[in-house]
Amino acid sequence: MISFPDILKSIAPEATFTFVTQNVDGLSTRALQEVAAREGADHRQAAPYYEMHGRVLDTICTACERRAHHSANEPLCPALAAAGALPTDPTSPSGVDTDEVRDIPLAQLPRCAACGGLLRPGVVWFGEQPLHMDEIDEAVAAADLCLVVGTSSTVYPAAGYAYEVADHGGKVAVFNLERTEGDDEADFLFLGPCEQTLPEALFGSTEVKSDL
Ligand SMILES: [Zn+2]
Repeated sequence: MISFPDILKSIAPEATFTFVTQNVDGLSTRALQEVAAREGADHRQAAPYYEMHGRVLDTICTACERRAHHSANEPLCPALAAAGALPTDPTSPSGVDTDEVRDIPLAQLPRCAACGGLLRPGVVWFGEQPLHMDEIDEAVAAADLCLVVGTSSTVYPAAGYAYEVADHGGKVAVFNLERTEGDDEADFLFLGPCEQTLPEALFGSTEVKSDL
């Protein structure tokens, strides 16, 4: 299978590619690692890669700010092992029966291995500064093509990147399941499952937006 960096190299040898994701689940990283492994490469050497909203499997110490990575297969602490099987309630918006969720005593919450401080998820919460902003801003300022993939484009600053690229004369291509905010201003719009539309577009399809 030909990878996107290979295609890019063949049509624009001097071009660079930067991957920016708002996802915090690490799935993009795993996909890149699997593709790189097939090619015998390190995905981090293939393209700059930024998880701007952090990683849900990381923890940050609320006292010393130490960041640590954890496995999805192991609970952070014994008390949270029980929370892995949350009581369900199909009528609840979250799907969880909150009446049945037990309180976990403070002393049993996950603690920092270095200083004993309380741990929090390693994701960017609303009101906090996203990660890698300098590197991302630099890439956006230099980009002459922005591929927007699988996002409602409502959370800033990421939602503004396409406008910024368009403002300095770049092209914007949007790939989404359905219409989203501002996609009528894109140069190209591909509607449908991104796992189909993205490879079709990158591997030779000439489909472009119509009837907007
Ligand atoms: Zn700590």
